Amino acid sequence: QQAQLRQMAFIDGLTQVANRRRFDEMLPLEWRACRRDGVPLTLLMIDVDHFKQFNDRYGHHAGDECLRAVATTIKACLGRSHDLVARYGGEEFVCLLPETAATDAQMLAERIRQGVSSMALPNELASPPHLTLSIGVATLLGGKTDAAQLLAQADEQLYAAKHAGRDRVHAVVLR
Ligand code: GH3
Ligand code: MG
Ligand code: MG
Repeated sequence: QQAQLRQMAFIDGLTQVANRRRFDEMLPLEWRACRRDGVPLTLLMIDVDHFKQFNDRYGHHAGDECLRAVATTIKACLGRSHDLVARYGGEEFVCLLPETAATDAQMLAERIRQGVSSMALPNELASPPHLTLSIGVATLLGGKTDAAQLLAQADEQLYAAKHAGRDRVHAVVLR
């Protein structure tokens, strides 16, 4: 029961993926492990586009259902046991992908983006009028970047994807 309680403390109640607390705990650990082993570490920052409009049009309950569907799609795109999907907050998700090179990570992000887009969930007040994602990708290959900077870089790429028109992936490689 203790183990079960501990497990629950690290799971997001709405989507059943890991929560922010779990992610915050794992990020420095994976950063250190990848640094030690000399392998890349990729971080995806995923944000639902025009989600406020979705809630405004279809209601908060439908919005919740939508977040569950997005979480399920993200999980379905990730295969490895060490990959972590977490709800970072609100309509934002993060993926922490150890030993994942830049090209693989970008393909994966693109698959997630397409996966949600192809569900064709209507979002009538938005343009395009269906649910889409913007994704920022940062891959760390070594160098001086610390875990917090990796997160900030993924966030910066997400911001760039939003600014460029949403429904797209922007990526950076850090050496
Ligand atoms: P952008 O494309 O720039 O990301 O626009 P946006 O509307 O997605 O972003 P904004 O930050 O303006 O709005 C986020 C919305 O997400 C507002 C908030 O009500 C909704 N939201 C956050 N958490 C939840 C949740 O748990 N359930 C539901 N239904 N909505 C949520
Ligand atoms: Mg957001
Ligand atoms: Mg959003």
